[in-house]
Amino acid sequence: MAIIGIDLGTTNSLACVYRNGRAELIPNELGDFKTSSAVSVLEDGTVLVGAAAKERLVSHPESTAASFKIWMGTEKRLNLGIRQFKPEELSALVLRQLLEDSTRYLGEPVEEAVISVPAYFNDDQRCATKLAAQLAGLTVRRLINEPSAAALYHRYSTQSGDSQMMIVDFGGGTLDVSIVDCFENIIEITAIVGDNRLGGNDIDHAIVAHFCKENGLVEERLAPSLRASLYRQAETAKIALSDVQETVITIQQENTQYSLVLTNALLRQLCEPVFQKVRAVITRAMKDRERTSRIHDVVLVGGSSGLTVFGDFLEELFGRRPHVAQKPDEIVALGVGLCAGIKERAEDLQDLVMTDVCPFSLGVATYSYAGDKTPHMAVLIPRSSMLPASHQECFYTLHNHQNRLRFEIYQGEGYFASENLKLGELEVQVPPGLAGEQSALVTFTYDIDGILHVSAKSSGGDYRDTLLLNPNLHLSEEGQAEAMERIRQIQLAAQGSQKEQLLLERGLRLYEQTIGQRRKLAAELVGYWKQIMEQNDLIERERNYEWVKERLDLLEAQTEMDPLACGFWRDEPEVDE
Ligand code: ADP
Ligand code: MG
Repeated sequence: MAIIGIDLGTTNSLACVYRNGRAELIPNELGDFKTSSAVSVLEDGTVLVGAAAKERLVSHPESTAASFKIWMGTEKRLNLGIRQFKPEELSALVLRQLLEDSTRYLGEPVEEAVISVPAYFNDDQRCATKLAAQLAGLTVRRLINEPSAAALYHRYSTQSGDSQMMIVDFGGGTLDVSIVDCFENIIEITAIVGDNRLGGNDIDHAIVAHFCKENGLVEERLAPSLRASLYRQAETAKIALSDVQETVITIQQENTQYSLVLTNALLRQLCEPVFQKVRAVITRAMKDRERTSRIHDVVLVGGSSGLTVFGDFLEELFGRRPHVAQKPDEIVALGVGLCAGIKERAEDLQDLVMTDVCPFSLGVATYSYAGDKTPHMAVLIPRSSMLPASHQECFYTLHNHQNRLRFEIYQGEGYFASENLKLGELEVQVPPGLAGEQSALVTFTYDIDGILHVSAKSSGGDYRDTLLLNPNLHLSEEGQAEAMERIRQIQLAAQGSQKEQLLLERGLRLYEQTIGQRRKLAAELVGYWKQIMEQNDLIERERNYEWVKERLDLLEAQTEMDPLACGFWRDEPEVDE
């Protein structure tokens, strides 16, 4: 039974296996390595995951979700049609899809995985990721930090000499910056800093906001599908700017056409607030590392590293242009695949050792004196400690006859406890006595997955082992079985049908995005294809698939090329009237 590696991304997810002496990406049913992290519920309750679901963001925004990774570990609920999902349930559906694709590709059942998470994921988010895997029927062998996975693969594939490098992973929703020391076969992550709410999506958002401002529109008041279309165009335009001088974004609302010409200069201006945050993260990473030796190499990974303006910005920051990793959007998955190989004890990987660090400081709230109203954080495990890490500290009573000691557990870098994320709390009984006479020994252990275990033992012998973390993420056995059953009951689109479904969804999206003649053509193609799909004649479906696809490709190309995306007032006089 194989262990697979999974890069469960905000935007795209990938699966990878280590076999025949190399990390091998697993293609999905469409033949792509990347599966869009998007989920959509069809009218009959069937669930689509991947490219077809992404298409439905435009045509059926009310029953489709994407970027839900940013809600992992929170109470957020997402409504998709008549169904309501927790973020970890949506992630579980993406995992189930990857699992099905992997099983089909490998020809053997897959039940175990190594999953990557942003280094900056906190305890709640890591637990939510583990829960998502459980709901998908997967056993997690390890959670690995995404930049660590990227570093592992970079080191392994380039076989570069001993060096110190910085890995900047700029994806759709997260930024992770890590500093990695490589010597012989040891890869040591010495600092990890990040922001899990910063990525390419923010750039799309800035473009859309500017578009609305320039055109006097209020984004929140746009129809959901129009808004989704605008985001899609903003993303396409942003990516296109790496090759062309300018692009145009256009939407049509009622009978008015709104547009914006986007150039690299404007894009750079719009990106500035995002880049300032990137600069802060990089600066912090540089300060965090213990050694001050020179950084030899800056390696860019993640989809957004392809942005020309991002390269320009980093060049100004570092004085020379960093190089973009060979496979910027696959490198994390390849690294996780390697890690799965190490877990499987693949012989050729046995010498490879990787050490990871914790991205946050962990501690408890303490009061300096009786009556202290603003407790500060006593740090037990400082940020950037090597994993696994364990530390003990003794805390004393502050009052006479105090009969218990309560510990609030926090994660973060703020001086005051209240500035940090509260993870849980723990209480032990102490025998009565004078202030400072009784105490409790608190032990923090931060495991290799980046998940915290806390225990406390009082001088009276009372012992508590806990974590009263987010109770929703720690389901009872019963609750867990129920939740797993709920996910299992959901039908994913049948194997073999994804290609055809994607074609249909693309047609529907193009219908939404166009008007006039083009819309008519999209409608005809959708109607025609729907009818073909309902037939059981495989040969007929195969033959027509290419025919419809060619026409949709053409329609798409025209829609993208034509600055006035829907051709309004050029070749469709009937709309003008
Ligand atoms: P994640 O790890 O968050 O799933 P990825 O690393 O796959 O994300 O990156 C997705 C992001 O990269 C999206 O915001 C997308 O718009 C952006 N992106 C993808 N390709 C390019 C490109 N060629 N140029 C600029 N941005 C890109
Ligand atoms: Mg990623």
